[in-house]
Amino acid sequence: MTMPMTASVIEASEEFAPATVAELERFLGENARKVKKPVYPVGGRTALHYGYPLCDPGTVVSTARLSRVVDYPARDMTVTVEAGIRMEQLNELLDRERQRLPIDIPQLHRATLGGVLATNSNGPRRYGYGTLRDYVIGVSAIDGRGNLFHAGGRVVKNVAGYDLCKLMIGSLGTLAVITQVTLKLRPVPETSSWLWCSYPTWQQLDEALERLTTTATRPVAMIALNARAARQIVNEIHLDVPVESPTLALAIEGTQKETEWQSSVLKDELSFTGASAMYDIPGHHGESVWTALTDYPVVTDEPLTFRANMLPSRAAGFMERADATGISLLSHIGNGIVIGHFPDDWISWEQSLAILNSLSHQAQENRGNFVILQCPDEWKRDLLLWGQPESGYQLMKKMKAAFDPEGVLNPHRLFVKA
Ligand SMILES: Cc1cc2nc3c(=O)[nH]c(=O)nc-3n(C[C@H](O)[C@H](O)[C@H](O)COP(=O)(O)OP(=O)(O)OC[C@H]3O[C@@H](n4cnc5c(N)ncnc54)[C@H](O)[C@@H]3O)c2cc1C
Repeated sequence: MTMPMTASVIEASEEFAPATVAELERFLGENARKVKKPVYPVGGRTALHYGYPLCDPGTVVSTARLSRVVDYPARDMTVTVEAGIRMEQLNELLDRERQRLPIDIPQLHRATLGGVLATNSNGPRRYGYGTLRDYVIGVSAIDGRGNLFHAGGRVVKNVAGYDLCKLMIGSLGTLAVITQVTLKLRPVPETSSWLWCSYPTWQQLDEALERLTTTATRPVAMIALNARAARQIVNEIHLDVPVESPTLALAIEGTQKETEWQSSVLKDELSFTGASAMYDIPGHHGESVWTALTDYPVVTDEPLTFRANMLPSRAAGFMERADATGISLLSHIGNGIVIGHFPDDWISWEQSLAILNSLSHQAQENRGNFVILQCPDEWKRDLLLWGQPESGYQLMKKMKAAFDPEGVLNPHRLFVKA
């Protein structure tokens, strides 16, 4: 059976863009009681390819008109907005108060907050600032039966019972349509700068990481790149730094004084780790490094992208072995996350499957997991996109049934169609 493409299913579906939450509640309620058609929540449509392909045409529910700012008491460093707000619009609002949500998102002009939550998007700053689960303090959403529910609130509080806010993050629009979000915010630092370090071998890069476990500084991002990825990033942003060997890029933020101090201390600490070169990348060049590293996992023409998670101490070894296969590699190495793109010039199904299985096996051996972020839809049926099923897999299915008994919300997106 040929697998229909997600794009063609979305195209063949009706469109509905509710102007109010009440309108969406009514639609989902009636749909669950009567026609029970598939419902596909969408925001900026930048990540609709993520997950198992959609199968049956239904109704695309766009959150584009649910994009109001509900409340922004800047002194309390929280903001409440509707989920259809574009990330760019949200960042502009917060920047006026020199505040931000310290989560790196690609394509800010298209991505919406609802989509960012549903995919649990994050980037290089996760090392220093954590992920969305650390910033979402309140959520409103509508489940598959059309019931509106609220979790958390406008202030940071100890939630009694299950933390439904956290449950919505990464749920890919399969449990409920997120309509409103309250976020905790951070101040925008005065300056930010990168230290770009090249190492002759992965072994020496790993020794530098070991040294950094006792650093006196507070890097907010710790990124390792193989030569292929470093070349791609550097060419993209026209940076004149070495790219022919493993690279460690460290980001520091704070006042001008703090950043300068951290940069000089880091160079001292790393001076005995065999780095063949160390470059400071401050200011606007530094900003373009943030954008390029944030876009790297998702903005790609390569046929397949994976994300492996493992013990951070094992990541350099994993990258050394994967590097030998010719894959382009970027790692949030402080968090033990490795992202790789399979190049299109040598790809054959058999070849990629052999390498996928070997890498997935290594990730599991390193106490981690292996997820396919993107690849052609027709390959997905035979792949475990989310890696080896977790022990809670059956429990997850029961939760899905509790939130969406008719199975209308993004059917088969998480659990492949049997
Ligand atoms: C694995 C992965 C792949 C990515 N790929 C790309 C990429 O190729 N290009 C790129 O620019 N960015 C990509 N991103 C980043 C992405 O841009 C954003 O971070 C964000 O996830 C997408 O926002 P969006 O509004 O475009 O969501 P969409 O692409 O519209 O939707 C993404 C998912 O979220 C669900 N969803 C959307 N809105 C809601 C809502 N209000 N309530 C419930 N569910 C909702 C959708 O059903 C869908 O499953 C990716 C992120 C991840 C995690």
